[in-house]
Amino acid sequence: MSSLTPAHDRPAVPPGAPLVQPALVQPAAPPVLQGFGLARSYRLGRTTVAALAGIDIEVRRGEFLALRGPSGSGKTTLVNLLGLLDRPDDGRLLLDGQAVADLDDDALTDLRRDRFGFVFQAYSLIPVLTAEENVAWPLVLKGAPPARRRERARDLLARVGLQGKEGTRPDLLSGGERQRVALARALANEPEVILADEPTASLDSAAADGVLDLLRGLQRERRAALVLATHDERAAGRADRTVALHDGRLRADA
Ligand code: ADP
Ligand code: MG
Repeated sequence: MSSLTPAHDRPAVPPGAPLVQPALVQPAAPPVLQGFGLARSYRLGRTTVAALAGIDIEVRRGEFLALRGPSGSGKTTLVNLLGLLDRPDDGRLLLDGQAVADLDDDALTDLRRDRFGFVFQAYSLIPVLTAEENVAWPLVLKGAPPARRRERARDLLARVGLQGKEGTRPDLLSGGERQRVALARALANEPEVILADEPTASLDSAAADGVLDLLRGLQRERRAALVLATHDERAAGRADRTVALHDGRLRADA
C-alpha cells in the first residue's frame, strides 16, 4: 500500500520536476456555502407558492456571485436561506461542509453575527443611533470594548467615504450615504460572506454606482465572498460569476 509507505521510502522528486504542481499554485477556491435541492414555499390562503423549487448552489470563498432574476423569481428567498435567516422546507445547506439544519436558532444567530454581513434595499439602520453607533452595533452584540468599537467604526466610515458624518443620524443622510453606513456595518465583524439583497434598488444611478464600487472593492480587499441579489443587469455584470433565477429555478449563465 503506497499510502502506508513511510515518507523517507517514497521515490524522490525527479530532477528538474517542478516542486509545486501548477494545479496547486492556484487551487479553485473552496465553497463556503453549498445548497443541495433547496426548496421553500409559502402558503397564501389555500394556495402554496413555490418560491424556490429545489435548487443547487455553491458560493466559493472570496468570489463575487450575482443572483439575477426578475422580481418574484426567488432571489430574496434564496438570500434568506444562504444567510441562515430562514430554513428550507427541503434540501440541505452546508457552511464549510457542515450541515446547518441541526443547529438551533441561537447557534444560527451566532453564526450570522460572526460570519455574515447583510446589506438590504431598505438600509435597515437604527434611526436613533448615529452613523458611528450603527456601524459599531454588531460589535456591541459581540461584547467588544468601547474603544475598539469606536476605532473600528470610524475606520470603516472613513473607508466608505463618510468621514465627518460619524455623529449624524440616518434621517439626515442621503440614500447613498445611508447605504454606505449599512455597508460599513455589514463589515464590522469581518464577515466571510456578504449578502446584499437589491442594495442599489432605492438609489439613483450615481449613488448606486458608488455603492457597487465600494461593495466590490471592500469584498476584494477583505477576501470575503459577496452574493449580490439584483434585477439590475448592470450591477450583475460586475460579478465574477452569475446565476439566474426564474420562477424559483436556477440556471447557470454564460
Ligand atoms: P425576488 O426577491 O426575486 O423578488 P422573492 O424571493 O421575494 O423573489 O419571492 C419569490 C416568490 O415567493 C414570489 O412569488 C413571492 O410573491 C413569494 N413570496 C415571497 N415571500 C413571501 C411571503 N412571505 N409570503 C408569501 N409569498 C411570498
Ligand atoms: Mg427580493
